[in-house]
Amino acid sequence: MTHPFLDLAPLSAAQFASIEDRVARLLDTRRDVVIMQGEALLPLEGAIRSVAGPGTTALNVITGPYGQTFGDWLRDCGAKVIDLAVPFHTAVTAAQISEAFAEHPEIDFVSLVHAEAATGNTNPVAEIGSVVRAHGALFYLDAVASIGAEPVLPDAWGVDLCVVGAQKAMGGPAGVSAVSVSERAWTRMAANAQAPRRSYLSLLDWKERWIDGGRRALLHAPAQLEMLALDACVERIEVEGLDAVMSRHASAAAATREGAVALGGGLEPYVYEAREAAPVATTLRTPPGVVAVELVTRALSCDPSLPLAAGGGPLAKEMIRVNHYGADATPETVRRCLAALGAALAESGLSNPA
Ligand SMILES: *Cc1c(COP(=O)(O)O)cnc(C)c1O
Repeated sequence: MTHPFLDLAPLSAAQFASIEDRVARLLDTRRDVVIMQGEALLPLEGAIRSVAGPGTTALNVITGPYGQTFGDWLRDCGAKVIDLAVPFHTAVTAAQISEAFAEHPEIDFVSLVHAEAATGNTNPVAEIGSVVRAHGALFYLDAVASIGAEPVLPDAWGVDLCVVGAQKAMGGPAGVSAVSVSERAWTRMAANAQAPRRSYLSLLDWKERWIDGGRRALLHAPAQLEMLALDACVERIEVEGLDAVMSRHASAAAATREGAVALGGGLEPYVYEAREAAPVATTLRTPPGVVAVELVTRALSCDPSLPLAAGGGPLAKEMIRVNHYGADATPETVRRCLAALGAALAESGLSNPA
């Protein structure tokens, strides 16, 4: 008997290239798109190590935990790193980026996370992109949590390295991910003696052995199931329409922000301004005396399938994450999450005063 996951024909180079083209259309990019055979951390780390070295001065924007990680990789590459940290309840502004350039004109690389699922904020990439382009720095963007939930337009915004993964708003697999690469970024990598070569982290390997060869021979056996899942998930987005998928996420975020306050138990949106709140996931702040991780545990005890989590690390005390993304970006899931949080608040003695 044939098995649907196991007895598959090998994935051809032509199929692989057509999946790359499909992802390129989703990003509205005419630049090279490389699909790397691992979770998004693979291209995120590979891209930084490919362009950064001892001669690099990097402006690393920290609006959540990923920014912290990028700074560590940059320092590990020998780059001089200027960290620009903003509180997790807000977003960075283009003016703050301009100020950093004025203070450190030598900055030649900027790393930024578009939306942070872990903190619930989203940054104004279009505005920041024009500031970065005017300064001439290379622009690296983690769009893993924004793709599918809000517009991600690397060409229009001047993003040189734009990393996406399918596991959040795209509702797809976590095991493969993609990066769009500008000509400027390829040039920087080629000139970087330290860039990974003959390595799983290498983007140059894909450039030299896959793209420059006309995408006829793959570097190694691809992660076939994940590639097929990625293709299916982008196809499903095409059928629903990217705009419709994004608007499902925006509606889920708005409903969660409003509904949480309406519960009356003292929950508030963690990100103060709605325009700085990521459509992919909504973070909530617990009232004084209510420990977020305890409230979430109580809410999940009734329905463990709900996409609820407490914030990571020290945020576990005060932050609740409603991960209303992918198939969970629906009014029904938001309603069930709010009902479970409301019941948990009532159990804590914080019921709706109405
Ligand atoms: C989810 C996410 C990733 C991918 O990391 P995982 O923890 O493996 O899901 C990368 N960057 C951002 C901003 C994310 O939200």
